[in-house]
Amino acid sequence: MTDPTGVDREQMARRFAEQRARLERAARDAGRDPASVRLLAVSKTQPPEALRAAYELGQRDFGENYVQELLAKAEALADLPDLRFHLIGHLQRNKARLVAGRVHMVHTIDSVRLAQELGKRAAGAGRAGRLPVLVEVNVGGEPEKSGCAPDELGPLLDAVEKDPALHLRGLMTVPPATEEAEGARPFFDALQGLRDRHGGVERLPELSMGMSHDADVAVAAGATWVRIGTALFGPRPPKEP
Ligand SMILES: *Cc1c(COP(=O)(O)O)cnc(C)c1O
Repeated sequence: MTDPTGVDREQMARRFAEQRARLERAARDAGRDPASVRLLAVSKTQPPEALRAAYELGQRDFGENYVQELLAKAEALADLPDLRFHLIGHLQRNKARLVAGRVHMVHTIDSVRLAQELGKRAAGAGRAGRLPVLVEVNVGGEPEKSGCAPDELGPLLDAVEKDPALHLRGLMTVPPATEEAEGARPFFDALQGLRDRHGGVERLPELSMGMSHDADVAVAAGATWVRIGTALFGPRPPKEP
């Protein structure tokens, strides 16, 4: 049934239940505590009503790719104070100011200059605590993708860690697209390997990896945040011009 806001709540309830069960199964199969794997509902292009419906199903963490879209939804959903927005798209330095006070976590720190700018803005944003961030790594070395190169990671982690307004929490990656979900495994393993080489789980407790296509593989490889869009909300509507 589609309600007056255009959201099919029954279908959404079914999809959320399926995806939660999927992550739980993948965690158990990997010998992990299911509570160590969290579902980030990727809501880019979805209307605020879809996020509200997901919120009513118990979902609290939402991933957005575009700053303006995130801010518009934050405004539309301001009556849901415990709803948390995560920025998972590339962040331009000139937009850091706009998100510093509005997001729960930024998954896409990929340069020292961006970290410094976001730190400066977070310090001025009157946040209750430091802003949690993940460093994005381009593990596939694809020129068109954002994320730092693996050999730039050390200095970048140090810069984030030194910033008094940022809280370094871990690593994030978007692997090259592959036909089979298993094709992503070497890239997830690579991120895990980088974590081990740069301070381990003590320093970098979170790994943000896995999407609709390859969530199970990501969980097997140690993901703590799995970013799922299509499998929860259905195919994305084409972007308006
Ligand atoms: C869109 C997006 C996702 C979700 O992808 P789906 O295939 O719809 O699950 C996850 N992570 C990032 C960075 C994205 O841009």
